[in-house]
Amino acid sequence: MSKRGMLIVLSGPSGVGKGTVRKAIFEQDNNKFDYSVSMTTRKMRPGEVDGKDYYFVSKEEFEHEIATGGMLEYAQYVDNYYGTPLKYVNQMLDDGKDVFLEIEVKGAMQVREKVPDGLFIFLTPPDLMELRQRLVNRGTDDLDVINMRMQTAVEEIEMMQNYDYAVVNDEVSEAAEKIKTIIRAERWRVKRF
Ligand code: 5GP
Repeated sequence: MSKRGMLIVLSGPSGVGKGTVRKAIFEQDNNKFDYSVSMTTRKMRPGEVDGKDYYFVSKEEFEHEIATGGMLEYAQYVDNYYGTPLKYVNQMLDDGKDVFLEIEVKGAMQVREKVPDGLFIFLTPPDLMELRQRLVNRGTDDLDVINMRMQTAVEEIEMMQNYDYAVVNDEVSEAAEKIKTIIRAERWRVKRF
């Protein structure tokens, strides 16, 4: 039987650049682990692809998944559901593959409860003004949504202490490099606790 894979959770406030950093990691290390595509009820943004960026579903479909135990974790974030389908993650881990989740903080804490031997990495902005500017520059949200995301970000940053590592996202390629170094080291760890 092959060794069970490692669950890698990249989390941090919205707008910190989790998606960009994750893509930078996957560009170079694509064959090393699998990305778990999340499910969401939020509307698709221009350029996003169903089944690649997210599985875009209705509120009813999402609530059905919750009710039937189909989610490893989920959270309501700024009026929408986001969550990780359980089946795919389990399959990959059982096949000995490392699985990468990119999720917000409440969901990450649920995973921590269920999978305590996972690797939990917190991506943090250099400062909060910088984070706000990134959300504005992204141009995908109205001002009231940006304000809600900022309020959530302050609460989320306080959760950093519950993670194994914190990486500042000053420069995308550097942050990606640091995360890859952490993952490489964890693969060789003799004992996780
Ligand atoms: P966005 O709307 O910007 O794509 O995502 C909003 C927030 O939801 C981000 O912080 C993103 O990382 C988080 N998110 C994406 N997928 C999941 C998921 O499966 N579970 C949880 N808990 N959060 C997620």
